[in-house]
Amino acid sequence: MNFSKTAFILVLLVSISSTNAQIGKYTGGSSKPAITEGGKPLHALVVFVTFDDDDDKKDASGIWNVGELPSYASDLFDNDTSDGITPYSLTDYWFNMSHGKFVFTGDIYPETVTLRPAAYYAETRRNFGETNREVLEKIKNQIDFKKYDNWSYNYREKRFESVADGIADMIIMIYRDPDAKWFTRGSGEEFSAIALLGTKEYEVVSGDGVSIISKPIVNNDVSGLTVRAGLKSKLALIEIISHEYAHFLFKSGHSAIGGIMGGSTFALNAWEKIALGYITPTVVNSDTSTFLLNDFLSSGEVLKVNYPPDLENSSRFFLIENHTRTNRYDFIARGGEANGRYTLDGDYGKGIYVYKYSSGNHYPPKVNLLTADGLWKWNITDTVKNSSLCGCDVPIFTRIGPDKDNGKSDREIKIYFNKALWDMWYDIDPFTGELTLSRDNMGDEYDAFTEGMVFSQWSNPSSNISKQRTSFFGFYINEISEEGVVNLELKFNDSTKFLPPASPEELEGSIIDEQVLLSWQTNKEPSMKEGSKYIVYRKTEEDNKFSEVGTVPHIVSAKTEFKDDIEDIESKVIYYMIKAQNSEGRTSSASQIIRIKTNNSD
Ligand SMILES: [Zn+2]
Repeated sequence: MNFSKTAFILVLLVSISSTNAQIGKYTGGSSKPAITEGGKPLHALVVFVTFDDDDDKKDASGIWNVGELPSYASDLFDNDTSDGITPYSLTDYWFNMSHGKFVFTGDIYPETVTLRPAAYYAETRRNFGETNREVLEKIKNQIDFKKYDNWSYNYREKRFESVADGIADMIIMIYRDPDAKWFTRGSGEEFSAIALLGTKEYEVVSGDGVSIISKPIVNNDVSGLTVRAGLKSKLALIEIISHEYAHFLFKSGHSAIGGIMGGSTFALNAWEKIALGYITPTVVNSDTSTFLLNDFLSSGEVLKVNYPPDLENSSRFFLIENHTRTNRYDFIARGGEANGRYTLDGDYGKGIYVYKYSSGNHYPPKVNLLTADGLWKWNITDTVKNSSLCGCDVPIFTRIGPDKDNGKSDREIKIYFNKALWDMWYDIDPFTGELTLSRDNMGDEYDAFTEGMVFSQWSNPSSNISKQRTSFFGFYINEISEEGVVNLELKFNDSTKFLPPASPEELEGSIIDEQVLLSWQTNKEPSMKEGSKYIVYRKTEEDNKFSEVGTVPHIVSAKTEFKDDIEDIESKVIYYMIKAQNSEGRTSSASQIIRIKTNNSD
């Protein structure tokens, strides 16, 4: 892999931070190694476990037939990297995420270990800790465990080193699908995987003298992790196992969104990569003419803007990532049309993503993922009774208005309903008014900032840290090249007013006689003064292309209105969108599109 592509050109005033003293405390990993440069790979042992009463019927897809190894077993890990690295393996995922700094290899125990019937463990009130211990007792004399003891923590130098310490580094126990009623007992949750070998402390010593240790908390000595979801796809298991391993790197807790610890992006995000010492962000704190930003995942390039911009170790900051969707692990948008699937369509969801950290120097950081389609107040407006998805009542969320500073994007609304926190499951299609199943909380085609979009204190989402803390920073996306390189114009302080206006919000329309009355929120940018205006575009079903139908001068008021004559229009449905243009002639990206049924409708 070539990571040496020239990162930034045309940069005028940029300070590159050499240390990230705060986040940097996770460099190399907290309880297990995150960097193996100069040492041996971190070499894991994977053991597949079944129960005597496991049933093939549970696994209709045939991923893992009872008594056999699962179909993905042979390429979940590379045993070594001398012949290269297999794409879509755990070895490849971590090599890719760490930019070559972390080599994570593994062996598969040659056969499935079958335990007594699951019913036995359920009835005798045992859990995964006891089953793991039984597996270890069965295999402890069968193989050479010294192969799995290559690393230890040097407490004096506070770092991991490639020296054996008599304790196994990482044993991954994978079960097909044992019932959570007994399997996860005592762990406090129905996990699909956990960064532990048991809820109690125990030690099994192998025939060649290596200790395999279980402790009830994530800890340097814990010798492995447990997966309950062995019937999932290999990609899903790469995500699950990487997440659990990353608990050893960061410790317990989760961030609200993004990365391997917040979910829904699959790949590590910039915060995680910076924290583990894989990349160094470019800190920007003053105006630059232009930035060229390459793909974040492949190049490791990321922009960091502190709040306030000159406070070096501020716990409040933004991280700006460019996702060209060219990296094989860039599943940043799995909602909308992707319907929850890993999509290899390289255009879906590509563009700039902005993470806002309101407390970002410790794990888990407090973070929002700001998406280009804005932040909103949400409300439960209805419920789907007895939804076929769960056999339960599911809330329906609806946007009730823009809240550019404190609202939630459709990627992270979580509303408390019926004793649980709910993601979005159903959505109302704005064009048809019908209820559709929604995976928009996993990211869709409107989330990325793309060419022509602006991010500023006046846009939605805004670059403000909060309503009380107005930011003095913004950017405009000048251009995205064919290769996905983003040409970004960053502005600070007074210069932010030279950014184009934000796209107008809350466009609404209604029919009065032969006219459509449109209204929207008036833009607040200081550049919306003498000579600034709004441009109105209309599209009918017949022409299927937006064309300008008129302009309205900007005036200071809460709302701006426009009347469109539709006497001669025969279409049953018409669409509108608007753009703002400031007094320097710079134009915003388009507002959201609205759909109006005309009187020609049946
Ligand atoms: Zn977790």
